[in-house]
Formats: sequence, C-alpha cells, structure tokens
Amino acid sequence: MGSKNLKAVTATGGKKVEVHDRERMKKVFGSWVKMLKRHPLTGEAMPKYGTGFLLRLMNEHHMLATRNFKHGQFKDFDMVSGQTLAATRLIKNVGCQTCPIHCGRIVEVNGKQVKGPELETLGLLGPNLENSSLDAIISWNHQLDELGLDTMSTGGTIAFAMELQEKGLWDTGLHFGEIANLPQVFEDIAYRRGIGDLLAEGTKRLSARFGGEEFAINVKGLELAAYEPRGAVGQGLGYATANRGGCQLNSGYMVLMEGLGLQMDPYTPRGKAALTILNQNLMEGISASGNCLFPLFTFYPGWLITHQHTMVAKTVNAILPYSGGSTNMLNRAPGKLVPIHLPGLPQTKALSAVTGWRITLGALKEIGERGFNLERLFNLRMGVTAKDDALPKRLTDEPQRPDDPRSRVPLEAMKKEYYAVRGWDSSSGAPSQKKKKQLGLE
Ligand code: SF4
Repeated sequence: MGSKNLKAVTATGGKKVEVHDRERMKKVFGSWVKMLKRHPLTGEAMPKYGTGFLLRLMNEHHMLATRNFKHGQFKDFDMVSGQTLAATRLIKNVGCQTCPIHCGRIVEVNGKQVKGPELETLGLLGPNLENSSLDAIISWNHQLDELGLDTMSTGGTIAFAMELQEKGLWDTGLHFGEIANLPQVFEDIAYRRGIGDLLAEGTKRLSARFGGEEFAINVKGLELAAYEPRGAVGQGLGYATANRGGCQLNSGYMVLMEGLGLQMDPYTPRGKAALTILNQNLMEGISASGNCLFPLFTFYPGWLITHQHTMVAKTVNAILPYSGGSTNMLNRAPGKLVPIHLPGLPQTKALSAVTGWRITLGALKEIGERGFNLERLFNLRMGVTAKDDALPKRLTDEPQRPDDPRSRVPLEAMKKEYYAVRGWDSSSGAPSQKKKKQLGLE
C-alpha cells in the first residue's frame, strides 16, 4: 500500500448480508454470547480492563518486553497496566458491533474523548522504553493514530534507537526513561524530518546502517509485539515462523498456553512445534472468516485458568508438553477426517450456519493451513526464505536471566520439528509438492 501511495480503502453499501440458516445462526450466537460472558477472560478480565489486563501477568511470567527486550520485567509495570488505566483514566468501554466483550477503552486527551491504548501499545511505549507515564502513553497513542503511525513498530524502533545511542552506535539524543522529546520525534517520523527520516525506516534497516543486528528486535522486518519470548519459548518459535514477521497473532499466540492462561512449562521446547502449528492454523482460519481472534480465548476451559492450582489443572499443564504426538496427528490429518465441533470453538458452528458449508474443526484447520501456506508461497516468491525464520541473537543466545540458562529461545531444535510437520523443506523452507497438492495449491 505504501509503495502505491494508498492510504486507506473504504467500502459502503446498503444491502443485507444473506445468511444460510438464520434460525440456527441465532441459536448458535445466543449460546456463544453466554459462553463469552461466563469465561474469566472474555466475560471479566477483557471487559473490565481491556487487553491491558495481560500486562500484569506478562510481568509476573517474565514476558514483558522491557528496555528493548533486554529484560522480561519492569519495576513500575503496574503504573501502565490495564487495571490502573481502568481505575484512573477509563471513561467507558466500547466494542465492535454485536460483540459482548467490549474490550475497547475510551479515555480523555486534551478534553476530547478518544480511543485508549491497547496492551501492545502500553507495553511497547511503556516498559520497552522504560517509561512509566500512563498519561504520556495515552496521549502518544492518540497522536500516533492521528499521524497514521503504528504504535507497536514505532515503540520497537525507538527502543532500538535508544539502545544504539546507549552503545554509542548512533547519536540521536534518545535515552531510555527520557520521554520529553518523543512527541516531536513522532512528528518527525511522520514528516520524515531529521532523525525521524531514518527512524521511519524501522528497526531492520536501521540495524543494516548502524549495526546492532543482535538486538534489533524484529522478524522479517516487523518489530516484535510486547511479549518477550525468552519467557515463553513457543512464542519465540511462532514469531520466527510467522509469515507477517514478529506478529503476536500470525505466530499462534503460544503465550496463552505458556503462562497467561494455561500454565504449560514456558521454557521447554517439547510439544511447542506441534501446538504452534495447530494454533497458527486455527487462528488463520478464524482470521480468514473476518472474525475477531479474542473470542478464541474460550478455546481453553475457564476452570483451567481460574483453578490452576488444583490437581486436575496441574496434571493438564504437565501433560501438555507431551501432547506433541497426538497434536501432530491432528495437524497432519486431512480436514474431512476430523468432522467434529469443539465446545470452546463455536465459530465452526456459526460459520456453518451463516455459509451453509460444513465447517468442522478439521475444515477450519485445513482452511487455516491453506492460508498459512499460501502466505508462505507468496513470501518465497518475494525472496523471504527459511533463513528469515529467525530471531535476533539476543533472544536465542543470551539468557534473559543469567541464573537460568533455560531463559532463551532454543529456536533451531523447535524449527526442525516444525518444518517436518508442516511438510516444508528444511533448507529452503518451501512447502513440498505433496503439501501443495494436499492443500489444492499446486
Ligand atoms: S470483536 Fe474483538 S476487538 Fe471488538 S470488542 Fe469484541 S473482543 Fe474487542
């Protein structure tokens, strides 16, 4: 879009959307809404605190990107948490049409009611810059939106520039914990003035010019989301293999299993490839339908999250790393061999009612796998290959905590299994002919 000077696409229309079976759809939606309201994440945490509720948990689990991903915890984390925002700045919740979650936040900037920051913005413009001013983040969020700049990539790029400054590689006047000059820098990025002209190029290109590749926190040119993957190594595999680059969603969002919801061992590579593939495919299928990904939280039974200290929950979490074999059977099975619906995944029933197609768990997984492979093939055509399924060295070679050698991402071991199960060539990263044929992509 950028290369074509395309800023936005709008669509408008007055026709009704045709629905295959309206009565069935109403029934499915009715019970789906009830389930969302009952679940601890979609019925309580998200409506009350927005996505920012995760920030406290991330800090607790050493997953909160801090000081350009040098650390996984920030001493002032609670000053910028969703809970603090809700208690001190929130005017009201807002949500998308028909969604009962209402995760959106309305706050005030200069006497005007505007959209409040999401979790990623809180994290990447907060702890990642060693900034604990919630008012500043709220104001910057509005400013960056108005300028048309992505808050996440802007935060990641500025953190990298701060570390370049600290190491004497580029003199920008940007320092961790110093924020007074940032509103001007954001303007300069948007209008490509002074250092803003170079910052506008993003982390990857800055590292090619000034060095510091090992702490240039990006994958395939996209700055990472706010989850520090040395506190959740499956998330690290997801970031590395995501077609979009360091995206928390295209990566499969393993953090939810590795501490933010379930309590699977976050440091073991065991079972992570299988679960990452399953999550990536299902999330891709849901995204292809146009649905929001947050309702997927109900995929994990609420009691597993609220009763994590019970024997049953502990057993489930202990078994998960050993579930790779059975998960891979599901990953490899043709869609038609899995003709079931899962209680926590009503999206399949909803899609069937709306479209008239038979969308089961198997079908959804296969639609997602086809999409994921199609993106992969597009990337390959553009020269993005297996060597780009990588993380910056800080995350793979340097333990986050010197006293715990497991606190780094053992990427290569997980990647090997991941490629084998995906049916991708280990050196080029390309889907095999057999895989392409299976998915109808030959
Ligand atoms: S559809 Fe998604 S983004 Fe919109 S209010 Fe619901 S949970 Fe939030």
